[in-house]
Parts: sequence; C-alpha cells; structure tokens
Amino acid sequence: MASSACGNCAFFDDHHGNNAATTQDGGLCRYNPPVSQPTPEAHGLWPVVSEKDWCGHFAPEAVGGMTAAE
Ligand code: SF4
Repeated sequence: MASSACGNCAFFDDHHGNNAATTQDGGLCRYNPPVSQPTPEAHGLWPVVSEKDWCGHFAPEAVGGMTAAE
C-alpha cells in the first residue's frame, strides 16, 4: 500500500510549478482551486507541496487517473 504522501496522491501535480518554476521535490496540490489572487490581472496560485507532505484529503493515485490539461 502506498504511503499517504503528496507524491503518491491523486491530487499531486509534479508537471508544472507556479510560474513554470519547478522545485526539487515539490509539486502542486490540485485538491482545491487556486488561491491568493493578488490582483485582478494575476493568476491564482496552486499550493506548492513537497512529495513527502501530506494532508487529510490524501487520495491514492488511480491507474490512468487525473491528468492536468496542457
Ligand atoms: S496536500 Fe493533501 S490533497 Fe494535496 S497533494 Fe498533498 S495529500 Fe494530496
């Protein structure tokens, strides 16, 4: 059984960081919509989490599960 960590979660997106910047073991949590839209013209930000983080919304990755739109 996979450990309950962001890196094994269906909502973890390791493809893109905010502003196209990537972090070492980080990714985006897509459980909730983007947050903190500082100005009307700015995009909201997805929370950046570590592969070893976790939260109570963890959901195991399903084979052929969700993928981000490119
Ligand atoms: S913060 Fe929670 S919902 Fe988001 S990727 Fe990590 S375990 Fe999954």
